[in-house]
Amino acid sequence: MNLPDAEQLILSLADQVRPLLDEGAALVGIHSGGAWLAQRIQKLYGKNVDLGTLDISFYRDDFSRIGLHPQIKPSDIPFDVEERPIVLVDDVLFTGRTVRAAMNELFDYGRPGKVTLAALVDRGGRELPIEAQIVGAHIPLQPQQNLHLLRDEHGTLSLKLHEA
Ligand code: 5GP
Ligand code: MG
Repeated sequence: MNLPDAEQLILSLADQVRPLLDEGAALVGIHSGGAWLAQRIQKLYGKNVDLGTLDISFYRDDFSRIGLHPQIKPSDIPFDVEERPIVLVDDVLFTGRTVRAAMNELFDYGRPGKVTLAALVDRGGRELPIEAQIVGAHIPLQPQQNLHLLRDEHGTLSLKLHEA
């Protein structure tokens, strides 16, 4: 399978997110891939923009089923979310359960304005009525396949496909 260049996808995401940031939206990255991406988008934007991270390990409805060992990284939203438009960022969108959990957690901080979802890759396989408004690439994957998002020593990201 020919995988797209992750760095190109980031540029495309950043371009699509820019108008929302111009309108005053804040970035919130879902730990951990989404948090890296939100940071990259913030840098590419150049101007000051509020940035937060969410760790949803405890909020996943299936966290015992998938055997997540919650490494406690507290969520960090250092701004007032009340009425604030938010761009939620994640690396790969699959069943939608992580995003559902992230929104639950986000709403514990207050009632945001418009929430937009940006995902680097949409791999299909949704189990909830959740879609990303901003997508870098649609890459349909089988359940046993996994896309690894790698970060080298310069912070450059790349994609690699793994088959279980
Ligand atoms: P979901 O909750 O939608 O089933 O899965 C999305 C979450 O699991 C995302 O936070 C994402 O990081 C991770 N994930 C699911 N599938 C993949 C994949 O193929 N590659 C990577 N890197 N992460 C994945
Ligand atoms: Mg993740």
